[in-house]
Amino acid sequence: MFGKNKKQPLPSKPKEEMPYTKEGLTLKEWRKKHQKPHKWRTRRWAVLIGIHTLFFLSFTFDLSILEGSLSGSRLLGFYLMDPFNTAQELAISFLTGHWKMLTMNYVIGIITIIIFYSLVGGRSFCSWICPYHLLAELSEKLHNYLVKKKKIKEHTFDISLRWVFWVGFILLAIFTKNLVFEDLNPVGILSRAIIYGPGLILLWILILITFEIVYSKRFWCRYVCPVGATYSIIGHVTPVTVKFDLDKCAHCLDCQQVCLVPHELWFVKRGAATDKHHTTGSDCTRCGLCVDACPGDALKFTVKGIDKLT
Ligand code: SF4
Ligand code: SF4
Repeated sequence: MFGKNKKQPLPSKPKEEMPYTKEGLTLKEWRKKHQKPHKWRTRRWAVLIGIHTLFFLSFTFDLSILEGSLSGSRLLGFYLMDPFNTAQELAISFLTGHWKMLTMNYVIGIITIIIFYSLVGGRSFCSWICPYHLLAELSEKLHNYLVKKKKIKEHTFDISLRWVFWVGFILLAIFTKNLVFEDLNPVGILSRAIIYGPGLILLWILILITFEIVYSKRFWCRYVCPVGATYSIIGHVTPVTVKFDLDKCAHCLDCQQVCLVPHELWFVKRGAATDKHHTTGSDCTRCGLCVDACPGDALKFTVKGIDKLT
Protein backbone atom coordinates (compact mmCIF):
# COMPACT_ATOMS: atom_id res chain seq x y z
CA MET A 1 0.00 0.00 0.00
CA PHE A 2 2.85 2.36 0.75
CA GLY A 3 4.91 1.48 -2.31
CA LYS A 4 7.63 -0.45 -0.48
CA ASN A 5 9.54 -3.15 -2.28
CA LYS A 6 12.34 -5.18 -0.74
CA LYS A 7 14.01 -6.24 -4.03
CA GLN A 8 17.15 -4.49 -5.24
CA PRO A 9 16.61 -1.90 -8.04
CA LEU A 10 17.70 -2.77 -11.58
CA PRO A 11 20.70 -0.80 -12.95
CA SER A 12 19.70 2.62 -14.37
CA LYS A 13 19.16 2.74 -18.12
CA PRO A 14 22.01 4.52 -20.01
CA LYS A 15 21.07 7.54 -22.15
CA GLU A 16 21.45 5.62 -25.41
CA GLU A 17 18.65 3.28 -24.32
CA MET A 18 16.20 6.08 -23.53
CA PRO A 19 13.20 6.13 -25.91
CA TYR A 20 13.86 9.74 -26.97
CA THR A 21 17.53 8.99 -27.82
CA LYS A 22 16.40 6.05 -29.96
CA GLU A 23 14.20 8.48 -31.95
CA GLY A 24 17.07 10.98 -32.25
CA LEU A 25 15.21 13.62 -30.19
CA THR A 26 15.79 15.58 -26.99
CA LEU A 27 13.52 14.75 -24.05
CA LYS A 28 11.58 18.01 -24.62
CA GLU A 29 11.05 17.26 -28.35
CA TRP A 30 10.03 13.67 -27.56
CA ARG A 31 7.46 14.78 -24.98
CA LYS A 32 5.98 17.28 -27.43
CA LYS A 33 5.85 14.78 -30.27
CA HIS A 34 4.02 12.17 -28.21
CA GLN A 35 1.42 14.37 -26.50
CA LYS A 36 -1.93 12.57 -26.41
CA PRO A 37 -5.57 13.61 -25.87
CA HIS A 38 -7.15 12.93 -22.46
CA LYS A 39 -8.95 9.77 -23.57
CA TRP A 40 -9.44 8.23 -20.12
CA ARG A 41 -10.32 11.52 -18.45
CA THR A 42 -13.10 12.10 -21.02
CA ARG A 43 -14.53 8.61 -20.44
CA ARG A 44 -14.31 9.01 -16.67
CA TRP A 45 -15.99 12.41 -16.56
CA ALA A 46 -18.76 11.13 -18.84
CA VAL A 47 -19.46 8.22 -16.46
CA LEU A 48 -19.35 10.46 -13.38
CA ILE A 49 -21.64 13.12 -14.82
CA GLY A 50 -23.95 10.41 -16.22
CA ILE A 51 -24.36 8.77 -12.81
CA HIS A 52 -25.20 12.01 -11.01
CA THR A 53 -27.58 13.02 -13.79
CA LEU A 54 -29.34 9.69 -13.28
CA PHE A 55 -29.62 10.33 -9.52
CA PHE A 56 -31.09 13.77 -10.24
CA LEU A 57 -33.54 12.56 -12.90
CA SER A 58 -34.67 9.62 -10.77
CA PHE A 59 -35.54 11.96 -7.90
CA THR A 60 -37.04 14.77 -10.01
CA PHE A 61 -39.25 12.56 -12.17
CA ASP A 62 -39.84 9.86 -9.56
CA LEU A 63 -38.16 7.17 -11.65
CA SER A 64 -37.09 3.97 -9.93
CA ILE A 65 -33.72 3.85 -11.64
CA LEU A 66 -31.04 5.23 -9.32
CA GLU A 67 -32.53 6.44 -6.03
CA GLY A 68 -31.02 7.83 -2.83
CA SER A 69 -27.53 9.33 -2.77
CA LEU A 70 -23.93 8.11 -2.67
CA SER A 71 -24.24 7.35 1.08
CA GLY A 72 -26.85 4.70 0.28
CA SER A 73 -28.76 4.10 -2.92
CA ARG A 74 -30.94 1.71 -4.92
CA LEU A 75 -30.07 0.80 -8.51
CA LEU A 76 -33.18 -0.70 -10.18
CA GLY A 77 -34.38 -1.66 -6.70
CA PHE A 78 -31.04 -3.24 -5.78
CA TYR A 79 -29.43 -1.73 -2.65
CA LEU A 80 -25.91 -0.25 -2.65
CA MET A 81 -24.19 0.90 0.56
CA ASP A 82 -21.20 3.13 1.17
CA PRO A 83 -18.55 0.99 2.96
CA PHE A 84 -17.34 3.66 5.41
CA ASN A 85 -20.92 4.50 6.28
CA THR A 86 -21.35 0.78 6.97
CA ALA A 87 -18.16 0.66 9.08
CA GLN A 88 -19.57 3.46 11.27
CA GLU A 89 -22.96 1.73 11.51
CA LEU A 90 -21.27 -1.52 12.51
CA ALA A 91 -19.19 0.25 15.17
CA ILE A 92 -22.32 1.88 16.65
CA SER A 93 -24.32 -1.36 16.45
CA PHE A 94 -21.54 -3.27 18.17
CA LEU A 95 -21.59 -0.79 21.03
CA THR A 96 -25.36 -0.42 21.39
CA GLY A 97 -26.34 -3.97 20.45
CA HIS A 98 -28.98 -2.64 18.00
CA TRP A 99 -28.10 -5.00 15.17
CA LYS A 100 -31.66 -4.87 13.84
CA MET A 101 -30.81 -1.72 11.86
CA LEU A 102 -28.58 -3.90 9.67
CA THR A 103 -31.36 -5.32 7.50
CA MET A 104 -30.91 -7.93 4.79
CA ASN A 105 -31.07 -5.18 2.14
CA TYR A 106 -28.27 -3.36 3.96
CA VAL A 107 -26.11 -6.50 4.03
CA ILE A 108 -26.77 -7.23 0.34
CA GLY A 109 -25.96 -3.59 -0.48
CA ILE A 110 -22.56 -3.65 1.18
CA ILE A 111 -21.63 -7.11 -0.17
CA THR A 112 -22.50 -5.97 -3.71
CA ILE A 113 -20.29 -2.91 -3.33
CA ILE A 114 -17.38 -4.93 -1.93
CA ILE A 115 -17.56 -7.49 -4.76
CA PHE A 116 -17.88 -4.85 -7.48
CA TYR A 117 -15.03 -2.66 -6.26
CA SER A 118 -12.79 -5.64 -5.50
CA LEU A 119 -13.01 -6.40 -9.22
CA VAL A 120 -12.63 -2.92 -10.74
CA GLY A 121 -10.39 -1.26 -8.12
CA GLY A 122 -11.57 0.05 -4.75
CA ARG A 123 -10.54 3.64 -5.30
CA SER A 124 -11.97 3.70 -8.80
CA PHE A 125 -14.99 4.96 -6.82
CA CYS A 126 -12.95 8.12 -6.15
CA SER A 127 -12.15 9.05 -9.73
CA TRP A 128 -15.13 7.53 -11.59
CA ILE A 129 -18.01 8.26 -9.17
CA CYS A 130 -17.14 10.83 -6.47
CA PRO A 131 -18.33 14.38 -7.29
CA TYR A 132 -15.79 15.93 -4.89
CA HIS A 133 -12.96 14.28 -6.83
CA LEU A 134 -14.11 16.03 -9.99
CA LEU A 135 -14.34 19.39 -8.23
CA ALA A 136 -10.88 18.92 -6.65
CA GLU A 137 -9.43 17.76 -9.97
CA LEU A 138 -10.59 20.99 -11.62
CA SER A 139 -9.42 23.16 -8.71
CA GLU A 140 -6.01 21.49 -8.84
CA LYS A 141 -5.37 23.29 -12.12
CA LEU A 142 -5.66 26.67 -10.38
CA HIS A 143 -3.40 25.43 -7.55
CA ASN A 144 -0.76 24.26 -10.06
CA TYR A 145 -0.95 27.60 -11.88
CA LEU A 146 -0.41 29.55 -8.63
CA VAL A 147 2.53 27.31 -7.66
CA LYS A 148 4.08 27.75 -11.11
CA LYS A 149 3.71 31.54 -10.81
CA LYS A 150 5.34 31.28 -7.34
CA LYS A 151 2.28 32.89 -5.71
CA ILE A 152 1.90 30.00 -3.26
CA LYS A 153 3.94 27.04 -2.01
CA GLU A 154 2.95 23.38 -2.10
CA HIS A 155 2.50 21.69 1.31
CA THR A 156 2.55 17.92 1.60
CA PHE A 157 1.86 15.58 4.52
CA ASP A 158 2.37 11.93 5.35
CA ILE A 159 -0.11 9.82 3.40
CA SER A 160 -0.68 7.69 6.55
CA LEU A 161 -2.51 10.64 8.11
CA ARG A 162 -5.76 9.35 6.59
CA TRP A 163 -5.65 6.27 8.86
CA VAL A 164 -5.55 8.58 11.88
CA PHE A 165 -8.66 10.30 10.50
CA TRP A 166 -10.25 6.91 9.72
CA VAL A 167 -9.88 5.73 13.31
CA GLY A 168 -10.85 9.18 14.62
CA PHE A 169 -14.14 9.24 12.70
CA ILE A 170 -14.99 5.68 13.79
CA LEU A 171 -14.32 6.63 17.44
CA LEU A 172 -16.46 9.74 16.98
CA ALA A 173 -19.33 7.54 15.73
CA ILE A 174 -18.90 5.20 18.70
CA PHE A 175 -18.81 7.95 21.34
CA THR A 176 -21.68 10.00 19.90
CA LYS A 177 -23.67 6.99 18.60
CA ASN A 178 -24.20 9.10 15.50
CA LEU A 179 -22.81 9.23 11.98
CA VAL A 180 -21.03 12.53 12.70
CA PHE A 181 -18.71 12.16 9.72
CA GLU A 182 -21.68 12.24 7.33
CA ASP A 183 -22.23 15.92 8.26
CA LEU A 184 -18.69 16.70 7.09
CA ASN A 185 -18.41 14.23 4.23
CA PRO A 186 -18.07 16.19 0.95
CA VAL A 187 -19.01 13.07 -1.03
CA GLY A 188 -22.47 12.86 0.57
CA ILE A 189 -22.91 16.64 0.79
CA LEU A 190 -22.26 17.15 -2.92
CA SER A 191 -24.25 14.09 -3.93
CA ARG A 192 -27.29 15.35 -1.98
CA ALA A 193 -26.83 18.91 -3.29
CA ILE A 194 -26.91 17.65 -6.89
CA ILE A 195 -30.06 15.59 -6.25
CA TYR A 196 -32.09 17.70 -3.83
CA GLY A 197 -30.67 21.19 -4.46
CA PRO A 198 -27.97 23.35 -2.84
CA GLY A 199 -27.87 24.48 0.81
CA LEU A 200 -25.69 26.47 3.21
CA ILE A 201 -23.60 23.35 3.87
CA LEU A 202 -21.93 23.98 0.50
CA LEU A 203 -19.92 26.66 2.32
CA TRP A 204 -17.98 23.76 3.88
CA ILE A 205 -17.10 22.51 0.40
CA LEU A 206 -15.99 26.02 -0.53
CA ILE A 207 -13.72 26.15 2.54
CA LEU A 208 -12.21 22.74 1.67
CA ILE A 209 -11.59 23.62 -1.97
CA THR A 210 -10.11 27.02 -1.07
CA PHE A 211 -7.73 25.34 1.38
CA GLU A 212 -6.65 22.89 -1.31
CA ILE A 213 -6.10 25.65 -3.86
CA VAL A 214 -4.05 27.94 -1.64
CA TYR A 215 -2.29 25.53 0.71
CA SER A 216 -2.18 21.82 -0.08
CA LYS A 217 -3.14 20.13 -3.35
CA ARG A 218 -5.87 17.44 -3.02
CA PHE A 219 -5.64 17.63 0.79
CA TRP A 220 -8.97 15.95 1.50
CA CYS A 221 -8.59 13.06 -0.99
CA ARG A 222 -4.94 12.39 -0.13
CA TYR A 223 -4.76 12.84 3.62
CA VAL A 224 -8.25 12.81 5.14
CA CYS A 225 -11.03 11.02 3.28
CA PRO A 226 -11.99 7.82 5.16
CA VAL A 227 -14.31 6.86 2.30
CA GLY A 228 -11.34 6.66 -0.11
CA ALA A 229 -9.24 4.91 2.56
CA THR A 230 -11.94 2.25 3.00
CA TYR A 231 -12.14 1.72 -0.75
CA SER A 232 -8.35 1.35 -0.75
CA ILE A 233 -8.68 -1.60 1.68
CA ILE A 234 -11.32 -3.17 -0.61
CA GLY A 235 -9.06 -2.72 -3.66
CA HIS A 236 -6.19 -4.89 -2.44
CA VAL A 237 -7.17 -7.88 -4.59
CA THR A 238 -8.24 -5.96 -7.71
CA PRO A 239 -7.09 -7.45 -11.03
CA VAL A 240 -7.67 -4.20 -12.99
CA THR A 241 -4.49 -2.16 -12.69
CA VAL A 242 -2.00 0.12 -14.46
CA LYS A 243 1.01 -1.75 -15.78
CA PHE A 244 4.43 -0.16 -16.20
CA ASP A 245 6.98 -1.10 -18.88
CA LEU A 246 10.51 0.01 -17.94
CA ASP A 247 11.87 -0.30 -21.50
CA LYS A 248 9.43 2.38 -22.73
CA CYS A 249 10.01 4.81 -19.85
CA ALA A 250 12.17 7.96 -20.16
CA HIS A 251 11.82 8.85 -16.44
CA CYS A 252 10.28 12.22 -17.33
CA LEU A 253 7.93 11.92 -14.29
CA ASP A 254 4.99 13.47 -16.17
CA CYS A 255 2.85 10.64 -14.81
CA GLN A 256 3.65 11.42 -11.18
CA GLN A 257 2.89 15.10 -11.78
CA VAL A 258 -0.75 14.33 -12.66
CA CYS A 259 -1.31 11.53 -10.13
CA LEU A 260 -3.41 11.95 -6.98
CA VAL A 261 -1.34 9.22 -5.31
CA PRO A 262 2.19 9.55 -6.78
CA HIS A 263 3.58 6.99 -4.32
CA GLU A 264 1.75 4.37 -6.42
CA LEU A 265 4.12 5.24 -9.29
CA TRP A 266 7.31 4.89 -7.21
CA PHE A 267 8.89 2.70 -9.92
CA VAL A 268 9.00 5.45 -12.61
CA LYS A 269 11.92 7.27 -10.98
CA ARG A 270 15.26 6.56 -12.59
CA GLY A 271 16.94 3.65 -10.84
CA ALA A 272 13.89 2.76 -8.70
CA ALA A 273 12.29 -0.12 -10.64
CA THR A 274 13.16 -3.57 -9.37
CA ASP A 275 11.57 -5.39 -12.32
CA LYS A 276 10.94 -4.64 -15.99
CA HIS A 277 7.22 -4.51 -15.18
CA HIS A 278 5.34 -3.18 -12.19
CA THR A 279 1.67 -2.60 -11.45
CA THR A 280 -0.04 0.05 -9.33
CA GLY A 281 -1.55 -0.92 -5.98
CA SER A 282 -4.74 -0.38 -4.03
CA ASP A 283 -4.40 3.40 -3.66
CA CYS A 284 -4.47 3.85 -7.44
CA THR A 285 -7.84 5.33 -8.41
CA ARG A 286 -7.65 3.90 -11.94
CA CYS A 287 -8.24 7.45 -13.21
CA GLY A 288 -6.07 6.93 -16.30
CA LEU A 289 -4.40 10.35 -16.06
CA CYS A 290 -0.93 8.77 -16.02
CA VAL A 291 -1.84 6.57 -19.01
CA ASP A 292 -2.86 9.65 -21.01
CA ALA A 293 0.13 11.69 -19.79
CA CYS A 294 2.88 9.18 -20.57
CA PRO A 295 4.63 10.11 -23.85
CA GLY A 296 6.22 6.67 -24.16
CA ASP A 297 3.10 4.54 -23.62
CA ALA A 298 4.97 2.96 -20.73
CA LEU A 299 1.75 2.87 -18.67
CA LYS A 300 -1.31 0.88 -19.76
CA PHE A 301 -4.48 -0.39 -18.14
CA THR A 302 -4.38 -4.16 -17.83
CA VAL A 303 -6.36 -6.91 -16.19
CA LYS A 304 -3.87 -9.04 -14.31
CA GLY A 305 -3.52 -12.40 -15.96
CA ILE A 306 -5.86 -11.58 -18.84
CA ASP A 307 -5.34 -8.90 -21.45
CA LYS A 308 -4.79 -5.22 -22.10
CA LEU A 309 -7.85 -2.97 -22.20
CA THR A 310 -6.28 -0.52 -24.63
S1 SF4 B 1 -1.35 5.68 -10.86
FE1 SF4 B 1 -2.31 6.53 -12.74
S2 SF4 B 1 -4.37 5.62 -12.79
FE2 SF4 B 1 -3.57 5.37 -10.69
S3 SF4 B 1 -4.28 7.18 -9.58
FE3 SF4 B 1 -2.26 7.69 -10.36
S4 SF4 B 1 -2.65 8.73 -12.32
FE4 SF4 B 1 -4.54 7.63 -11.77
S1 SF4 C 1 6.08 6.15 -17.20
FE1 SF4 C 1 6.06 8.22 -16.32
S2 SF4 C 1 8.24 8.74 -16.15
FE2 SF4 C 1 8.10 7.02 -17.58
S3 SF4 C 1 7.98 7.97 -19.63
FE3 SF4 C 1 5.88 7.60 -18.92
S4 SF4 C 1 5.29 9.57 -17.96
FE4 SF4 C 1 7.53 9.60 -18.13
